[in-house]
Amino acid sequence: MKDKLMLMIPGPTPVPESVLLAMAKHPIGHRSGEFSQVMAEVNQGLKWLHQTQGDVLSLTVSGTGAMEASIINFLSPGDRVLVGNNGKFGERWVEVCQAYGLEVDPVIAEWGQPLDPEQVAEKLAADREKRIKAVVITHSETSTGVINDLEAINRHVKAHGEALIIVDAVTSLGAVSVPVAQWGLDVVASGSQKGYMMPPGLGFVSVSERAWDAYKRATLPRFYLDLGLYRQDYAKNTTPFTPPVNLFFALQASLQLLQAEGLEGVFSRHERLMRATRAAVKALNLPLFAPDAAASPAITAVAPTTVGAEQVRSLVKKRFDIVLAGGQDHLSGKIFRIGHLGFVGDRDILAAVAALEATLQELGVADFNPGAGVAAASQVFSSLRS
Ligand SMILES: *Cc1c(COP(=O)(O)O)cnc(C)c1O
Repeated sequence: MKDKLMLMIPGPTPVPESVLLAMAKHPIGHRSGEFSQVMAEVNQGLKWLHQTQGDVLSLTVSGTGAMEASIINFLSPGDRVLVGNNGKFGERWVEVCQAYGLEVDPVIAEWGQPLDPEQVAEKLAADREKRIKAVVITHSETSTGVINDLEAINRHVKAHGEALIIVDAVTSLGAVSVPVAQWGLDVVASGSQKGYMMPPGLGFVSVSERAWDAYKRATLPRFYLDLGLYRQDYAKNTTPFTPPVNLFFALQASLQLLQAEGLEGVFSRHERLMRATRAAVKALNLPLFAPDAAASPAITAVAPTTVGAEQVRSLVKKRFDIVLAGGQDHLSGKIFRIGHLGFVGDRDILAAVAALEATLQELGVADFNPGAGVAAASQVFSSLRS
């Protein structure tokens, strides 16, 4: 059916009507008082979302641009960095760091498993000369549906005393608490098309005072993504280069929605969506790819054995206009991923689970009780509602 598409991928995520309508205005001059007012409100909202009074800068980039800005502003050629790598996005951190000539010491876990904070602790404890300048971590590893234990890893970084912690929070920010000030997270990168309930196009980087000190010493080349420029203009509620003005209107509207729901409301909704999805998948006898203890609140990866992942995905799309994500790299054809990040509610999960059940039946999968998935999800919803 036309215009009935339902996105259940981990970005771009669905966008609320008020956010879409906010974009449908004439662009205004970015040096106008009117734009500064929008930016002033947006900057306060971003601090609220990041739980910090520090700077949260907006850039005209996708999430990867925010990641790149998080490296080039705070490090110098040859700097040693510990980089967590347990999926596609951990791998991307390694690639960004290598592209800029950093000395990468990887901390690896199998795809589908979380990073072991003890491995980070050991490497940091062994670094008596304090050569490690940063620990670079993906919080929610979107490619596998695993969330890494950022709090534990960060504790070890703080014990080291020298290294910055640089975090990809692209699919954790706006889904689970990322208390930037309380944990002392130095650099946190995110992107608009994930938890922000917005179209793609804006990237965000939060920067601690310690990171600004490192900025002064950092010598990697930077120009368009020189965060010092954004910081100067940020104080005046403007930007160094022409911003995507209409995306700022969208951001203003989406932050208003998030603030109306409240941080606790937003986080508990994602927790509920994750638990319902996982309960349903288990009830359908489908193996979950990530362990319960490290399940991302943004995305659930499923590794079917009695039917092809791509078969499920293409039929769900064809019959129900629901878009699920596939597996990346060696997981292609092995897993499908159900996104539940951003503008997603209980109804969306019930619809997706029911569509999944119907699809499995159509594909001749017979090792589950029809209705079991919806029943399991409903059970989670009713118990967590009360
Ligand atoms: C989506 C995503 C990114 C950014 O990808 P872009 O396509 O550059 O926006 C980075 N990290 C994670 C974990 C993501 O899910």
